[in-house]
Amino acid sequence: MEDKFSKIVSLCKRRGFIFPSSEIYGGIGGFYDFGPLGVEMKRNIKDLWWKEMIQNHENIVGLDASIIMSPKVWQASGHLTAGFADTLLECKKCHKRFRKDEIKQNKCPECGGKLTKPRKFNLMMKTFVGPVEEEASLTYLRAETCQGIYMNFKNVLNTMRLKLPFGICQIGKSFRNEINPKNFIFRTREFEQMELQWFCHPKEAKKWFEFWKKERLKWYESLGLKKKNLRAKEIPAKERAHYAKRQVDIEYRFPFGWGEIEGVHNRGDWDLSNHAKHSGEDLRYFDETKKEKYFPYIIETSIGVERSLFAFLCDAFEEIPGGRTKTTKATKEVEILLKLHKKLAPIKVAVLPLVRNKRELVKKAKEVYKLVKPHFVSQYDEIGSIGRRYRRQDEIATVVSVTVDFQTLKDNTVTCRDRDTMTQIRVKIQNLVEVIKKILEGEKVFKV
Ligand code: ATP
Repeated sequence: MEDKFSKIVSLCKRRGFIFPSSEIYGGIGGFYDFGPLGVEMKRNIKDLWWKEMIQNHENIVGLDASIIMSPKVWQASGHLTAGFADTLLECKKCHKRFRKDEIKQNKCPECGGKLTKPRKFNLMMKTFVGPVEEEASLTYLRAETCQGIYMNFKNVLNTMRLKLPFGICQIGKSFRNEINPKNFIFRTREFEQMELQWFCHPKEAKKWFEFWKKERLKWYESLGLKKKNLRAKEIPAKERAHYAKRQVDIEYRFPFGWGEIEGVHNRGDWDLSNHAKHSGEDLRYFDETKKEKYFPYIIETSIGVERSLFAFLCDAFEEIPGGRTKTTKATKEVEILLKLHKKLAPIKVAVLPLVRNKRELVKKAKEVYKLVKPHFVSQYDEIGSIGRRYRRQDEIATVVSVTVDFQTLKDNTVTCRDRDTMTQIRVKIQNLVEVIKKILEGEKVFKV
């Protein structure tokens, strides 16, 4: 299984999904850059989540709050105190630090050396605002996006004239000074979160928790994550985040074991009541019909974009020893097929001239590329044998490969090849865009 992990990491680098940050200077632990394919896939995940939340549900609106906020926010939220700290042990010999939950025996997992007593280590990243680096200008990069939502609870409620229950969602960067960033993009120090904060009557919190837990699990399945690799884990009280009354982690079975990709939390009135206390603002909700004033409870669903992207990649990754087309010369190679859901695939269409040394074929293929490009994220590729090019596209999950061949020059038709079944159909160029649209919508265009 470990092997699969390194193969995926290597594919990500080789094919332009993910690169280590600042690589020419030796990198920097816990930071990654998303390359041309990675950025497309990330955008797809974010767009799909946004559409799911805002368009497929009632009473949810969006927000984009600033990353840097008043440090008072973090004081009130409990993030500056022990609440948002990992317990850390240091090896007396090699001085590496480990989270307490990573230590199985009381010795260093790296060199076997003795460990120090556990110490609390706050995860907030510090920065200074303004020209003078002094205590008064100290603030923090946000460690979770939701605090920006609580800051705007009243603004959104009043401007949008919302009634409970309603939700506010946001996508944005968060930063945590993780002691031990590891497992590629699973645990990093800079990452993106997609969060929904659902405000409801305290008496309805239980019901909504169940609702959102189910909705979120359904979303992963709708995008092709295999059920056997997905689970919802109830977190016992002593292991919960400091704000959570109830917590379910949605976990994925990564090659290195089960790991959280999303947290569903009942935050109760922890945040709004603390912010009300510290700021002096009344953040209670007034129900006009029942003449009742109270702090709403908050059900939160919080996903890491990178962790979910990594889960989708792991789930889609298949190796086929000897390849799928047993007749070609390359049969001794191991073929990689990335079976990403169509909606997640970074490249939707590849346009390929059958050969590149025939001027008319290349010219026609470039025309076809120009035709499809405004409609779909597309790639033009003429390098190497056609079999090799198909395999290159399979490896990056391209949904449809369009080949321009000699028959195209006679009757203006091209072949469309399905990534998963390798089935081909002939399509008139004038219908090509419509046919590809149908394929991407999931219509059965290829007859297997
Ligand atoms: P963990 O226990 O793995 O540190 P957490 O319980 O602290 O995670 P939450 O605070 O619930 O995580 O954050 C919600 C989501 O944000 C997580 O499910 C995960 O997808 C993402 N996330 C949190 N920390 C990181 C990180 N260091 N790197 C990448 N993603 C992260």
